[in-house]
Amino acid sequence: MTGLDRDRPADSDGKTAHARFLKRACDRLGYDAQEYQILLSPSREIRIELPLRRDDGSLCVFTGYRVQHHNARGPYKGGLRFHPDTDIDDVRALACLMSLKTALLNVPFGGAKGGIDCDPARLSDREMESLTRRLTSKLHRNVGPFTDIPAPDVGTNAQIMAWISDEYSKVYGYTPAAVTGKPLDMGGSLGREDATGRGVALVLRAWARHRAETLEGRTAVIQGLGNVGIHAARCLHDLGIKIVAVGDSRSAVFAEDGLPVDALIAHKNETGGLAGFGAGATVDPAAMLETECDYLVPAALGGVIHAGNAPHIRARTIVEAANAPTTWDADAVLNAAGVTILPDILANAGGVVVSYFEWVQNLQQFPWSLEDVHTRLTERLETAVDDVMALAAGQEVSLREAAYVIAARRLKDALWTSGP
Ligand code: NAD
Repeated sequence: MTGLDRDRPADSDGKTAHARFLKRACDRLGYDAQEYQILLSPSREIRIELPLRRDDGSLCVFTGYRVQHHNARGPYKGGLRFHPDTDIDDVRALACLMSLKTALLNVPFGGAKGGIDCDPARLSDREMESLTRRLTSKLHRNVGPFTDIPAPDVGTNAQIMAWISDEYSKVYGYTPAAVTGKPLDMGGSLGREDATGRGVALVLRAWARHRAETLEGRTAVIQGLGNVGIHAARCLHDLGIKIVAVGDSRSAVFAEDGLPVDALIAHKNETGGLAGFGAGATVDPAAMLETECDYLVPAALGGVIHAGNAPHIRARTIVEAANAPTTWDADAVLNAAGVTILPDILANAGGVVVSYFEWVQNLQQFPWSLEDVHTRLTERLETAVDDVMALAAGQEVSLREAAYVIAARRLKDALWTSGP
């Protein structure tokens, strides 16, 4: 167990935050204990030993995982995470979240997640390529365009998806639909790279419209300046929101009047970090989460908003760009304090929606324009926001509970129709 539910470690029956959220939704839907268990439990868990010859000639062994949660609504679908904290508990929880996310967005996929317990910052490009190809060569019988479709997540990117695609195609011939988030010249989709961050802004905009809330001039704090955080920062800034603080794993910067987003991203891309950035004051990355703002956007790892810091959060709204950033206990504290949470399975779903578009384009061998991608992404996310807000208002529950109820019902309906 790593960061997913720090203040309440896994119970004897292995529950974590997502399991409790799912249980609460199942109770509301009147599902019994067996039905809940079937929705929660993964279909298959794969563990792979991955020996790697390092550049210095030494040999080390990493562990790879792929958890396939449910595929009643379509092929398993989910990211690959390369991070030293990756373990089976995190991957299992993240796979379940993927099933719920694809159900909520009504894309024809199930849920999966995978990863390797490695630190990409300590591996050379050759070592990363070798490890990725080794993972693919050991996993290829269990993945594929109608079986299980990996995508990028923490520590992985389009280049890694390209190596997976190439390795897979050596066995099965040209099969671009076997993996999404690929580079454009290998069958990737326009608009995939920034889709998750763009989706964060689109979901916030749709939610704000329902409440007649103006975004212009509001303030946001963003934790994590990787793929999701960078594009979320840019898109939120384009909506007129002032980004007053951003941080990554090593440092954070704050400016009351708003940070110059383009310069900040350029600095991060050039130097790999935020240290030495000319504008704003340096602040403690952990304390940054407690900065007063309208929108707090965790876009890094799970479990960062926990019972310890939840009472000190001074945001009015949390937009969960990361997966599972809020623990069960923190969720209760924040709900009681009147903080609105746009939950992960809604707020960060832009990535899997455009992955779906990429898969469709690959199967049809017919690329779409960027305008088509953006229009369809906006439609899907706005429909999901409408669904969640209608149920939340009708049943007087939080947005997270509403999202889980919709997703759990769709997942159960598909599972029961196909025969549990
Ligand atoms: P990434 O590897 O590109 O970036 C991660 C960022 O988090 C980096 O800037 C890193 O410095 C920062 N970080 C790591 N530890 C931190 C810490 N302790 N404090 C502050 N910052 C820290 O990963 P990503 O693809 O941007 O994913 C970020 C989150 O979004 C993850 O939770 C992931 O599961 C979720 N997500 C990603 C996608 C996607 O399409 N990539 C889709 C949906 C959800």
